[in-house]
Amino acid sequence: MGSRFEITVVAENALDGDKHIAEAIAEIERIEKLISSWDPNSETSKINEAAGKTPVTVSQELFDLIERSLKISKLTDGAFDISYASMDRIWKFDGSMTSMPSKEAIQHSVAKVGFQNIVLDKQHNSVFLRLPGMKIGFGAIGKGYAADKAKEVLTKKGVSSGIINAAGDMNTWGKQPNGTAWKVALTNPMDKNKGFGMLPVTNRAVVTSGNYEKQVVFNGVTYSHIIDPRSGYPATDILSVTVFAPKAELADALATSVFVMGRETGLDRIDQLPQVDCIIIAEDGKVFKSKNIKIDTL
Ligand code: ADP
Ligand code: MG
Repeated sequence: MGSRFEITVVAENALDGDKHIAEAIAEIERIEKLISSWDPNSETSKINEAAGKTPVTVSQELFDLIERSLKISKLTDGAFDISYASMDRIWKFDGSMTSMPSKEAIQHSVAKVGFQNIVLDKQHNSVFLRLPGMKIGFGAIGKGYAADKAKEVLTKKGVSSGIINAAGDMNTWGKQPNGTAWKVALTNPMDKNKGFGMLPVTNRAVVTSGNYEKQVVFNGVTYSHIIDPRSGYPATDILSVTVFAPKAELADALATSVFVMGRETGLDRIDQLPQVDCIIIAEDGKVFKSKNIKIDTL
């Protein structure tokens, strides 16, 4: 998936531990084959190739993942949208941009984006993208899904405790061998060398979205690398979002969504979801927490 995964398991001995890690890796590779938009043979690529032409019958697993992605789109009023993938890449965050793109270019860039044009047919297990040139991609949910599935494979094999770290998307279960909870460090986006401290997590996923190196500034406004699929404009008022949820998939998708929704709408949405919490570091360094986060040190 173009990112680094780290797998930690607690086992009786190193041999068992290695065996379980290999099982988790095999599962992650299996999912990559399913959802990759780089691999021309993946089911995802077949859907994209047939956009505007014909529905494509896919496996139950991919169908279900797309169905859950559409639910998150509805929940976030389209802030989360797997059809973001057809966006023209007019924003560049590598320092090469010298001026703001024109209004027309920005509008045009999202012309083919819109989850309303992803049509699911349950009877035939088929997916149809209505507009020619439309594309879907799982960049904001795939790592979380893979982390959930790797955890599921290991818990089914009887692994009582571990961590799947999918490029910073942390999925934990069980406890450390000494009986204490796993702890996840939160980074301070204002100063990467200074953590915000360690938070205990039990049977939960913790996902942070935010790349402080990938930004561009025009007229004093900092534009971040996550783009609102509805408008084509990058999110502006958030540095990082950390979401806690029972599943890494939901945490992954919501971290990106809160980025797009902004601090007020984002917090409001998170507060309506059971067992989901979030911490937002705003552009001005202010910290916002959802109502169930009770840590004073932040
Ligand atoms: P990161 O892990 O890079 O911090 P995220 O988990 O927030 O980032 O995911 C960002 C990726 O998600 C982008 O690189 C892109 O592939 C995809 N993406 C960007 N915007 C959206 C969106 N609004 N809805 C769904 N996916 C998105
Ligand atoms: Mg994400």
